[in-house]
Amino acid sequence: MVRKWSHFDDLRLRQEAIAWLKVRTDDGKYSLTREEINDFFFDGEPFKLIDPMKGIRKPQVLDTALSIMTSFRKPGEERPYADEVGNDGLPRYMWEGNDPYKNTNAGLRLAQERKLPIIWFIGVGGTPMRFHVLCPVNIVGEELEHQRFVLDIASEKGLTLAELASPSGPDTIVKKYLVRETKVRLHQPVFRASVIRAYNVRCAVCNLGHEQLLDAAHIIPDSHENGIPSVTNGLALCKIHHAAYDTSILGITPDYTVEIRQDILEEIDGPMLEHGLKQRHKQKLMMLPSAMKERPDRELLAVTYREFIEKQTA
Ligand SMILES: [Zn+2]
Repeated sequence: MVRKWSHFDDLRLRQEAIAWLKVRTDDGKYSLTREEINDFFFDGEPFKLIDPMKGIRKPQVLDTALSIMTSFRKPGEERPYADEVGNDGLPRYMWEGNDPYKNTNAGLRLAQERKLPIIWFIGVGGTPMRFHVLCPVNIVGEELEHQRFVLDIASEKGLTLAELASPSGPDTIVKKYLVRETKVRLHQPVFRASVIRAYNVRCAVCNLGHEQLLDAAHIIPDSHENGIPSVTNGLALCKIHHAAYDTSILGITPDYTVEIRQDILEEIDGPMLEHGLKQRHKQKLMMLPSAMKERPDRELLAVTYREFIEKQTA
């Protein structure tokens, strides 16, 4: 029989784990491998924050669940569990199996009752698999008919979606707000982590390898309000090349060749213009995802390339 920990120790574990993860990920900027996540120590002992097999981690020493994990989905693949965003704009997390009293499901429910924060690990691909870390996450409801929990993600300042959405506001405005905030707090960071990982932490145009200087650029603006945007609509670009791409100074053909706007090619200036832009003209992208399925969608590139050409001749 395992002696269960007190409520106080449970709370202390979560606070320490969340603080540790925030430092390790620099407030969610960097993804972690399973090995890195399991490098956590509590009271001098190693303590696993992510379950080796299951989606929901309920440690033996606790009655409550500590973390949840969402599997990585390659472009075109369905997730094993249909986690999604509900009509209210808040994310959902499926039960494990169909039994509401299974210890993992009961553990999440108890964490909800006790208002204990949990940690959400979202697979973003890679070998070994990397995870984007979201915390603290609160469980704010349960939908028995859909066998899933309702989640709320706190902002960097600790504000929850529920706290921010004015309960007195008209429903449509509140919903719109929650949908937008979920995008900012959940979908955008997961997209960024997936794209940066797919491009091996390098700019596709110039191969620069400093994560602080890289963005996950959209090829066409992300219009899927409720879906995690696909890596195939993304490019890892350094800050300069991202801005150049978005403003049609730089174009990328559907066969992955860089082009620079004509008037820029004729300009004479310092090293950034010469090396950073002009010398990239007619060069192939320097970094592409090794997985074919994750490479930029040629049809999406064609749309943006057409705009690049149109703006030159305008
Ligand atoms: Zn670059």
